[in-house]
Amino acid sequence: MGGTIAGLAANPDQSPSNYKAGELELETLLKKVEGAIPGELKLVSQQLANIDSRDLSEDLLTLLGNTVKASLSQPDVQGIVITHGTDTVEETGFFLSATCGKLAEKLGKRVVVTGAMLPANAPQADGPLNLLDALKWVANPPESCPGGVFAVFAGKVCLARDLSKRHTSAFNAPLMDAPCSPLGLINPSWLSRLKAVEAASGEDLPIPTQQWPWVEILTSHAGARAQALKSLLDLGVEGLILAGTGFGGVHLAWMGALNQAEVKGTALVRASRTGAGVIQGNFVGDGLNCVSSGSLSAPRARIALQLALNAAKADKSLTWQDFFARIAVLPEFG
Ligand code: ASP
Repeated sequence: MGGTIAGLAANPDQSPSNYKAGELELETLLKKVEGAIPGELKLVSQQLANIDSRDLSEDLLTLLGNTVKASLSQPDVQGIVITHGTDTVEETGFFLSATCGKLAEKLGKRVVVTGAMLPANAPQADGPLNLLDALKWVANPPESCPGGVFAVFAGKVCLARDLSKRHTSAFNAPLMDAPCSPLGLINPSWLSRLKAVEAASGEDLPIPTQQWPWVEILTSHAGARAQALKSLLDLGVEGLILAGTGFGGVHLAWMGALNQAEVKGTALVRASRTGAGVIQGNFVGDGLNCVSSGSLSAPRARIALQLALNAAKADKSLTWQDFFARIAVLPEFG
């Protein structure tokens, strides 16, 4: 998909963080690790995009999801590694988990997302090791870990649904806050959480085939005004993720517009801007009728809501809330 792992700095020794993402082809990245790839793996590569992931589009997510599904279904494919920019790997990880996770699990195959924080020509480039680690994770014997969608960065593995980039420059930025395990020494409590999450999660949701539902994220803050919210409602936004303060509370100034949104049938999800912790139910007691994002960050809750709205359009027997609960509200484990 591109990203910093495929990026090049103009002056890598002096300023490695001044670079352009998505410059090298995947074939070139693979050549850099060729000698160290586990011998039994035969690699087939596909370049779907070569972008800075801050520019990720919904069309590209659809293309990626369909490609992953089609590839997983081929009997001779053991697993899939996706190289991706870290800026929006959180969205892609969640999207793939929600649309391809059950398929991967049923087939006992692993899909692994990885990337890098330094460009490919930086002296301390982390991409080659991350790529190798991801390939090794795919090649692990099936009895060591079930199939599913994972992310590998800085020597650790987590469920791709748990990703959230929490630092601008740390090597482990994308999984810094996620329940994870060192790759070489799988932590039994991480493995049991993985199995419990897989057991609790429902069927894969369909990948949107046409335009994705329009959902925006709004952050509540001191001095919030209702104008931005009102404009979005007037323009026909289908859903809003309210990244509230603390337990997901929103500014009083928004309440009138939000009550109108409820009447209009706009889908509302309450998340927290704090970056950690869980919200379930209406702890803030503002009477707003919205679904809580559980432990999902606002960007992941946004993908979840888009997929849920899309699924409810295709299957009228269930509501978007039913589909949202299927992928987003899973039990938490310590
Ligand atoms: N801007 C880059 C991207 O997301 C950052 C990275 O890959 O680390 O493509």
